[in-house]
Amino acid sequence: MSIKLENISKLYGNQFALKNVSMQINKGEVVGLLGPNGAGKSTLMKIICGYLPPSNGKAFVYGFDVEIDSEKTKSLIGYLPENNPLYLDMYVREYLQFVAKLYKIKNVDDEVNNSIQICGLKLEQNKKIGALSKGYKQRVGLAQALIHQPDVLILDEPTSGLDPNQLIEIRKLIKEVGKEKTVLLSSHIMQEVEAICSRVIILNKGEVVADDLTENLSKFIQRGEKILLELDESINGEEFTQLVGVLSAKLINPNTWEIQSNGEVDARQQLFEFAIKRGLNIRAMQKVENSLEQIFQEFTIQK
Ligand code: ADP
Ligand code: MG
Repeated sequence: MSIKLENISKLYGNQFALKNVSMQINKGEVVGLLGPNGAGKSTLMKIICGYLPPSNGKAFVYGFDVEIDSEKTKSLIGYLPENNPLYLDMYVREYLQFVAKLYKIKNVDDEVNNSIQICGLKLEQNKKIGALSKGYKQRVGLAQALIHQPDVLILDEPTSGLDPNQLIEIRKLIKEVGKEKTVLLSSHIMQEVEAICSRVIILNKGEVVADDLTENLSKFIQRGEKILLELDESINGEEFTQLVGVLSAKLINPNTWEIQSNGEVDARQQLFEFAIKRGLNIRAMQKVENSLEQIFQEFTIQK
């Protein structure tokens, strides 16, 4: 077990930021921590990294308690904090040397060269960090997280604020370095997590509301539309999925179906024609936006 959290709660004053969060992350997993702003993602990551004590509960990294064996767990973790705080006046190489020394690494130059190589910073190593583009600053952030060759990477919103090209590059880099490590990456964008992670943990208002393989959650990530359809009698849901563009149908209330379409055709027209053909009466039909907020709410309600 790489990371293990047992009933972690965090209070800021008397406000809960995390409530009874438990999870286990196996060695080699690449897990997305997904949630809207304020969900508690950064707080959780700071607790795992030992920068913030939990109000309750225990966090372990490779079996070591992050509060008791904090020096050990810090040596096992590479952390890229939110907004990637860097010393903008330092040169890339100089900064990485500085970080390497903080970790008391013996062969500083080798490790600096290694992380420069992995993060594609060879041409930038003698530039001032402040002069780099956001994408390259993020590479420096990743390089400092990798410098002590940690087994675990904790990346807090590593692609936020990047333009589409930089985003693709950084995702590629994370995937590459993630092959040999355990990665926990936070994001508020479904598609992002889908692109990088094999498992998703959804956090909403400080609570875990879903924890599953990305492929199992990806039906909620569809960009299509959702239609709520109330009929006057029960039918077999498989009949809906025969219709063009309908991906799934879920019975959410007696005779009320939640129908997910691929969004390419207006499924309402098809459903209407289907109802006529089958002699069914439609009591209500409503199109619902499949927005992120709704998805989070859905998981919260399901719980
Ligand atoms: P996320 O990273 O998912 O956006 P955070 O962990 O930053 O969420 O914040 C979770 C909640 O805790 C939010 O309501 C936020 O306002 C609150 N919070 C975060 N840091 C502090 C702090 N230092 N003092 C008081 N409240 C905080
Ligand atoms: Mg955050």
